[in-house]
Amino acid sequence: MRRFSDLSEDERREVRSRVFKLYDSADAEIRSHGPVCVASGKCCRFAEYGHTLFLSHLEADVLLSAAPAYETPTDKSFCPFQVNKLCTAREHRPLGCRVYYCDPNYAGKAEPITENYLDQLKKLSQEFDLGWSYAPLHRFLDEQSAGLVCSPHAPSL
Ligand code: SF4
Repeated sequence: MRRFSDLSEDERREVRSRVFKLYDSADAEIRSHGPVCVASGKCCRFAEYGHTLFLSHLEADVLLSAAPAYETPTDKSFCPFQVNKLCTAREHRPLGCRVYYCDPNYAGKAEPITENYLDQLKKLSQEFDLGWSYAPLHRFLDEQSAGLVCSPHAPSL
């Protein structure tokens, strides 16, 4: 099994580009259900809304390669990229952020989309022999601050 640091620049670019292609496809599928976002910002304040944002190491690599600086140590109760109820890492945000809407008319739609694209992310990771890590956001943030970005040793799904 390889680490991200073992990938060549070209391989790393290809992995990131294919993650973005999966995001584009997922976004289109999500849009087809027409969920409404009222920008309450609650979904990014995890403790308040009672959920945890999980993401894979491939998504963490994409997010953390371009996300703005954040304060450490991080607090698992909210996402440090939310500022004034808006996401400051929108283009690079992970699948879990893309599929999640509190619109009651969208209830039940997120789960199958998540399963499908997580499966595709796993296959992509296998193709590059990168193992599989799937963990809460704060875990990857803490790893990044400790200089261990995207180590494939987080809990597996
Ligand atoms: S990355 Fe953006 S959308 Fe996702 S939880 Fe953080 S602020 Fe919210």
